[in-house]
Amino acid sequence: MRDVPPWIPLFGIGLLDILDGVLVGAGLERVTPAANANGYMHMSLEFTDWDHSLAMSVAWAALAGIALWRAGGPRWGMVAAAAVFSHFLADLAVHDPDLALWPYSSAHVGLGVWSSLPVGSWFLEVIFVIIMVLIGCPNGIQNLNASKYPIMVMAFLSLQLTPWWSPMALADGFGASSSPVLYGLFIVVGFILPASLMSWFLMRPLGSRETNTAT
Ligand SMILES: [Zn+2]
Repeated sequence: MRDVPPWIPLFGIGLLDILDGVLVGAGLERVTPAANANGYMHMSLEFTDWDHSLAMSVAWAALAGIALWRAGGPRWGMVAAAAVFSHFLADLAVHDPDLALWPYSSAHVGLGVWSSLPVGSWFLEVIFVIIMVLIGCPNGIQNLNASKYPIMVMAFLSLQLTPWWSPMALADGFGASSSPVLYGLFIVVGFILPASLMSWFLMRPLGSRETNTAT
């Protein structure tokens, strides 16, 4: 069975936001700047049902799962589907109740941790990232050096999206007409760039580990 390449979970976890950024930027979905909505995202999601509703999250996860299963086998497919759907679960914890159950449903869910702990939620996210990095380090915590570049990317990502200097506050300031386009751009670039960088960093140690075990 073929190993699952890191780009599958890395792009999978961001797929719903990449779609969101594209659809909002294209004017097919609607977000509005709101200083107090969704903690340091400063945006109220008025209509993002085609990517962020429960039903569509399941549908996109199934689509990605089928596509990757066909491309690389069952493990690729299952990791892709789990990664895509995990985004909905993570958003469910932090979002205000702005996640529809299905497109055009009036029922919305979201436990609102970003809004109820505007600063504390950022610390919780950083602690979560640190735990995930320690679990994910391919060589164990004794050898953090081997994972220094992915760790630097995660540290940079954690620092650029804080309650104090969120790029979304910048988008917010551009007013209702241009801020959704900026929001879309920030979301798409904010997922594609780190996912590409992390995939590139993680593909290299994987390759050398395979050589090590073979010799
Ligand atoms: Zn999201």
